Amino acid sequence: MKQLWAPWRLEYVQHADDGDECVFCRAAGLLEDEPELVVRRGDRAFVLLNKFPYSSGHLMVAPYRHGSSFDDLEEAEAAEVHRLAVEAIDALRAVFSPEGFNVGWNLGRVAGAGIVDHGHLHVVPRWGGDTNFMPVLGDVKVIPEHLLETRVKLSAAWSSR
Ligand SMILES: [Zn+2]
Repeated sequence: MKQLWAPWRLEYVQHADDGDECVFCRAAGLLEDEPELVVRRGDRAFVLLNKFPYSSGHLMVAPYRHGSSFDDLEEAEAAEVHRLAVEAIDALRAVFSPEGFNVGWNLGRVAGAGIVDHGHLHVVPRWGGDTNFMPVLGDVKVIPEHLLETRVKLSAAWSSR
């Protein structure tokens, strides 16, 4: 089997437990896109890659407002989250040609939400046989190089729409 990429050639190490700051608020507040893998910024919401993806190109769309959730979005936030999710699907199709998508919200930890205080919509591209993808080595949390490349490709796909 031909190896298409080398995800374990790690250039980036994320210190996930540095402080208590919300990762979405931190990413939204940074001027640089690369450190938190931001792909697209809108007026009310933005798009970033999940550092612990379920599959290649696993994106999250989050309102900027901390404490927001699916069930209390303002109209303008809901509209932009929806629009960005549609654009995310377009960009992922252009870059990865996935066979399908899971799009959804996890409300509450029991439902699988890793970050419960800042709502976010998952856009997960799917392929047959993709369920074992998980770039986490022990308790060392890392950003594999391919995530950095993925961010650049998706951002470029967005800009060329
Ligand atoms: Zn937040």
